[in-house]
Amino acid sequence: MDAPPLLQLEDVSKVYRMGDVELHALRGVRLAIGRGEFTAIMGASGSGKSTLMNLLGCLDRPTSGRYLLDGEEVSRLSGDQLAALRNRTLGFVFQNFNLLSRTSALENVELPLLYAGTPAAARRARAREALARVGLDDRRDHHPNQMSGGQQQRVAIARALVNRPRVLLADEPTGNLDSRTSVGVMALFQELGASGITVVLVTHEPDIAEYAARVVVMRDGRIRADERRAPRRAEASPPDDGEVGP
Ligand code: ADP
Ligand code: MG
Repeated sequence: MDAPPLLQLEDVSKVYRMGDVELHALRGVRLAIGRGEFTAIMGASGSGKSTLMNLLGCLDRPTSGRYLLDGEEVSRLSGDQLAALRNRTLGFVFQNFNLLSRTSALENVELPLLYAGTPAAARRARAREALARVGLDDRRDHHPNQMSGGQQQRVAIARALVNRPRVLLADEPTGNLDSRTSVGVMALFQELGASGITVVLVTHEPDIAEYAARVVVMRDGRIRADERRAPRRAEASPPDDGEVGP
């Protein structure tokens, strides 16, 4: 029998209630994503992309339907069980990097381990390993304001990887990057996918979605298209590429 999909939404709906008004952000979404699959979620503003990502990331719960993460029905877990599942399974990447500005790259990457209570030596070793994985081992003492946007996003990706997650969820990760730097980030996601990490990426840029092996298009809270195809191959750009900000 096939292994169950890593991420599975079954007839998921999400309704936001504001006073008397009901807003149907997701309407009966069925989606199964497998291990190592690199998926882009596209769709117009307001189509439900972020709502979908928030559910996949266990930051929110469906109004109806089921979400199974690694075979576990998320809504049945206690708060502690859910926190543990999230920590060992999910990493998040954001458009604005969300790095601490007066803190070195290494310390930024160590942060999730600090929260998890990992001892200092192990923190350091794992953070260095994650920075090496994104090609930034020589920049570990730099602060974010001494790095280009592309480098900052790589630090943020290293931070997302430091707990060795199985899934990386990225909402518009290239929204603040120029196109050359964006392709470098896509090359990194393709590499992570090849190593078995499942990447789900929200983007409104068709040029970026081309690098994913699967494209899901949302409209009015529904999946309008869901296609797998041969992705465009991203050339890795040198990690010190790009302008260093003012
Ligand atoms: P996208 O990310 O594709 O732009 P969203 O998932 O953010 O779309 O939003 C989908 C719909 O749900 C939109 O109509 C939006 O206004 C609404 N919505 C999103 N979040 C909330 C919220 N917290 N409260 C009320 N309505 C919301
Ligand atoms: Mg959004």
